Amino acid sequence: MHINSFPYEILSQILSAATQLNERDGVTFTFGLSQAPLPAQKASLQRYVRGPVPPEMLKWDATASIRLVCWEWHEWALEYAMKDIYIRRWKGSERWAEISQRREKYGLYELIEKPSGTAVYRDPFCSLTRTVKLLRKYPGVASKIRRMWFDGFYVSETDLQIFDAVRSCSNLTSVSLPWTTLRHLGAQEWGRLLHGNGNPLQSLELLAVDLTAKQSEDPKNRVNFHPLNSDLADFSQLRKLKIFGDSTFMPINDQDLQAIARTATRLEEFHLTCLSTISIDGVMAIVKSSQSTLNVLEHSPRSNDGFFHPHPGSLSDSEHICTVLTNCPRLETVSLSVPSMCSALFSNENVRWAGDLQVRAARLCGHEDGRSTFAAQDSLQQLLDQARRLVSARANSHIPKDLYIELFFADFIFEPHVNAVHGDFQLAGLASGGSWPATRALSRKGPYGTTGLYGKDEEGLFERVDEEEFIQGVKKHWVSISA
Ligand SMILES: [Zn+2]
Repeated sequence: MHINSFPYEILSQILSAATQLNERDGVTFTFGLSQAPLPAQKASLQRYVRGPVPPEMLKWDATASIRLVCWEWHEWALEYAMKDIYIRRWKGSERWAEISQRREKYGLYELIEKPSGTAVYRDPFCSLTRTVKLLRKYPGVASKIRRMWFDGFYVSETDLQIFDAVRSCSNLTSVSLPWTTLRHLGAQEWGRLLHGNGNPLQSLELLAVDLTAKQSEDPKNRVNFHPLNSDLADFSQLRKLKIFGDSTFMPINDQDLQAIARTATRLEEFHLTCLSTISIDGVMAIVKSSQSTLNVLEHSPRSNDGFFHPHPGSLSDSEHICTVLTNCPRLETVSLSVPSMCSALFSNENVRWAGDLQVRAARLCGHEDGRSTFAAQDSLQQLLDQARRLVSARANSHIPKDLYIELFFADFIFEPHVNAVHGDFQLAGLASGGSWPATRALSRKGPYGTTGLYGKDEEGLFERVDEEEFIQGVKKHWVSISA
């Protein structure tokens, strides 16, 4: 029996096993030289391994021989190697002329005992320009692409090129774009991006970074076509929206999210990380429009500022966020920063929440003045009790689920299910004359500790005390929950 007569799944498995072996044996590192040879200087050059060959290039190299065998194998190899495409800006401005562009020739390069190099200028946008040309010329190749990432291109000119590239890919379902495409592309282009050639986009990521001063002053980059104001920008087919990074240049704001929310009615995942230009208003607009479908909600603004600045803005209308959230019937994964929280957040025992649930809040609902009054202390106690009840309700539901709740409030981390509070209690210890807290233990959490969330070096002295003792301490004014 000829190998090509095997069922496609088996043939595909054989080819993929062969490809993985090729990948293992192929070139996995690229080289660099220690310094540029300057005129009239005789420093000896050192060759060093600069970094790994990116995965998509490894895939391409590993399928090279397979592509040559026959049409069927060629198609398989294209599908395998072109499924995910990552296009990044050339970061170094030069390359070494002596090192071959063909990675399979690297073995020869390694034999050169005294490497020399001539710096050659290389267009940083070259990879993008070439991709656009290739995809336009070969629609068959373009049709194999399912996911695309663009990294390092933010100006008006490259945004248009990115649109050109994406437009050629008829089966694209997932794309990561620079946020400036929301400004530099028109409504018609966005319509094309979102609905493609019949295959609608399912996942959209927008990455924001700061432009250089020169780029942000360039009038070409300052144009704004306001694509979201038009009905052509229709997000109704989108399942996942992720916005991350931060920028002050024509940043994504609440109005943008409200405009997206008009049509984004079937989102299953919504992630918003780091951005300080979107407030809770924009987030809730999306949550409400996709309330019936939302499964994952992650909102951690300004996380670069760390634990002590979780303030997510304040909601302009008087809607109770806690209730809106408990009424998302499919919501499972929640990590959220809200202006305020209260026991209502955990009152619906029919929620599907599972796994780690984090809520960062600036205040307690109804105690927006942020003072550590008796009423506020009561409210906190109710919140913790209700959270515990929800954890046990989830554990005892028809399909039992583990739920771990972490509440970040007033510079403390509360873990209601284990009756623990983590925080810096040094001053409280002094205030109590050393008698409080009696249950202290070293905490593995910390403002910047092992959670690793914010990567800061200055670790605070975080300790863990029992919740009951913590509340006693608050009542005796040794610790304060004023925010
Ligand atoms: Zn509330």
